[in-house]
Amino acid sequence: MKTTTTAKPNAKAFRVDYPNDWCPGCGDFGILGAMQQAFAAMALVPHEIALVGGIGCSGKAQYYVNCYGVHTLHGRPLPFAAGIKLAKPELTVVIVGGDGDGLGIGAGHFVNAGRRNLDLTYILFNNEVYGLTKGQAAPTLEMGLQTKSLPEPTIQSSIDGPSLAHASGFTWIGRGYSYNVRHLTDLVVRAVRHPGLAYLEVLQPCPTYNDLHDKEWYSQEENGTSRLWDLQQDGYDALIPQNATQEVHRERTQAFAQMVTRWDSRIPVGVMLENLAISTYTDRIAKRVPPYRDAPPARRTIASATGHPATDLSGMFSEVAV
Ligand code: SF4
Repeated sequence: MKTTTTAKPNAKAFRVDYPNDWCPGCGDFGILGAMQQAFAAMALVPHEIALVGGIGCSGKAQYYVNCYGVHTLHGRPLPFAAGIKLAKPELTVVIVGGDGDGLGIGAGHFVNAGRRNLDLTYILFNNEVYGLTKGQAAPTLEMGLQTKSLPEPTIQSSIDGPSLAHASGFTWIGRGYSYNVRHLTDLVVRAVRHPGLAYLEVLQPCPTYNDLHDKEWYSQEENGTSRLWDLQQDGYDALIPQNATQEVHRERTQAFAQMVTRWDSRIPVGVMLENLAISTYTDRIAKRVPPYRDAPPARRTIASATGHPATDLSGMFSEVAV
C-alpha cells in the first residue's frame, strides 16, 4: 500500500512552471489534470511520488508534474519503475506512456511485469497513433482504418490493451476517457490505491493526427445511448476478493471476457478488474528475505561516515584470487 501524509495539498502543489509543447486540445491535458487532482485527493505530497515516462508525447508528462520524474528509453519505463519500487517501496510509482511505447516496443516488458504484480500504476495514453513522430499507426489502431496521416489503411491487426493486461497477470484493469476528468481522477485514485500492478488505459484523442476517433466521435450517441459505457453505472462487478472461491474467479473472468470487446458502438470505461487474490512481488520477496521489509535497498547504509563503502568484498576477492 502507498503511504499518505497528514498534509493536504491541492492539485496546484503538483503543477510546475515548465514549457508545455503538447498541441492545443490534446487529450494529454485531461490526463495530466486527472493525475494532479488524484494525487491531491490522496493527500500525497510531491516527494512521495515518482513518475516514470516512456518515449512519445505522453512520455513527457512527468516534466509537467511536480514530483520525482524519470524520462526513460523507448518501451522501458516498466523496468525502471520496478527498480524504483523495489529500492524504495514507500514511493508511489506511476508509469506514463503511449500505446506505441507500451504495447509495441515495450510489449515484452508489459507482459513480464504482469507476472510479478509489483505495486505500480501504468497509465497508458491510447490515441492509436505515434503522435510524436507524425502519426504512424500504433498497435491499437484497428486493421483497415486510415487516419489522416496514413497514405493507406493499416493492414496490421490491433492489440487490445485490457485483454493483454489480463492475459499477462495485471491485477487491476480499468479504462477512462481523457475529456471526462472527474471520472478519470477517480480511476487514477483507485488504480494507485490498488496494492498490485494496475493498468489504466486512457482513451485520448490526438486532434493533430487521428481524425477518426476525435472528441465528437467519442461523444456520439446511438438510440440515446452514449458510446462510452460506464461499467460501474451499469452494475458491473470487477472485484475478486482476497479469499475468493474458484466460482467467483470463474464468474469474474467470464464477465471480463464478455465485456472487453472494443470499438463497437459501446466502449466500456470504468473498473474492469480488481483482483485482490494474487500476492504482490514485494510480499514474495519479503517472505524469502525477511529483512527486505524493514531494509529495502534505499534504506541500507552503503558507506561509513568517512565515506568508506560498508560492503566488505574481501571474502569474494579471496575466493577468486589466483
Ligand atoms: Fe497530443 Fe497528438 Fe499533439 Fe502528440 S501529436 S501532443 S498526442 S495532439
